[in-house]
Amino acid sequence: MIHAGVYYAPGSLKAKFCKAGVAATLAFCRENDIPFQQCGKLLVATTPLEVERMQVLYKRCHDNGIDVQLLDAAQLKAEEPNIVGLGAILVNDTAIVDYRLVTTRMAERFQALGGHIRLSHEVVALEETSEYVRATAKYNGQRVTFDGEFLIACSGLMADRTTRMLGIETDFQIIPFRGEYYQLPEKYNDVVKHLIYPIPDPDLPFLGVHLTRMIDGTVTVGPNAVQGWKREGYGRFNFSFRDVADMVRFGGFWRVLKSISAPVWWKRKILCGNPAILNWCRSIARKSA
Ligand SMILES: Cc1cc2nc3c(=O)[nH]c(=O)nc-3n(C[C@H](O)[C@H](O)[C@H](O)COP(=O)(O)OP(=O)(O)OC[C@H]3O[C@@H](n4cnc5c(N)ncnc54)[C@H](O)[C@@H]3O)c2cc1C
Repeated sequence: MIHAGVYYAPGSLKAKFCKAGVAATLAFCRENDIPFQQCGKLLVATTPLEVERMQVLYKRCHDNGIDVQLLDAAQLKAEEPNIVGLGAILVNDTAIVDYRLVTTRMAERFQALGGHIRLSHEVVALEETSEYVRATAKYNGQRVTFDGEFLIACSGLMADRTTRMLGIETDFQIIPFRGEYYQLPEKYNDVVKHLIYPIPDPDLPFLGVHLTRMIDGTVTVGPNAVQGWKREGYGRFNFSFRDVADMVRFGGFWRVLKSISAPVWWKRKILCGNPAILNWCRSIARKSA
């Protein structure tokens, strides 16, 4: 999904970066003949409290310069006959694309310009001097080093660890949460025309369960949010002693747990249970066949 940047604080780096990123991603897709669909996204309010939150989010979208429309229940029904809600924000700019294809094309361009890609090299040490930055990686049991004038680190779930490799103290740490998605049966591929999202609950640091139209025509539902026991572990039973030890030693992890009040825990439990996802799906999407 090519996000329009609905949630970010106006004027923040994230808000600016996301807006610039949408334009750059679409331009890259056009230049490289990568198919994308600007199908738009609906953030649907289903309770009076969510309607209040929707108004605040709508103002935020405006402040961020995003092309949005506020829909009442009847307009929502006209846009999406299978979705029931009290109102919605329609975000026109949101698009879908096959990101695997995007990154494949990026890699091809990078290599055509003389770049080298080394897969399966785990960076284990970083050293910075006034002359160079040296990255030491493990590959096939061997250690290999790379020297460069600059280093751009995009290490995702390991960002805190790679930062600390350079001796820079971090005030953040990655805590893994795993999200599970389900694919609807093919007969529901046309159940929605847009991407369907809930109005986010400010007490929960999750996106909420949503319906995603994929570029291949299928529709997925998810994610729930389950505590992960391994940073890059996507299986239900993946476990890493190092990751769990780092997590429980980190004060921020316990502060987050404490900050979530009991009713919110209950809500989170709803998001976590698989039958709950299906119930949620049934409650917002009537069967189309
Ligand atoms: C299920 C899911 C769906 C998402 N859907 C969307 C979406 O539709 N649209 C969207 O915009 N965003 C989406 N996101 C978020 C998006 O994937 C991330 O924001 C994005 O991938 C972050 O990019 P990154 O380069 O910072 O990190 P990553 O994509 O995580 O890449 C980091 C890479 O660094 C590697 N690495 C880490 N440590 C080392 C090391 N020591 N040595 C060598 N390599 C290392 C990792 O193996 C990984 O390949 C989704 C995320 C998830 C989990």
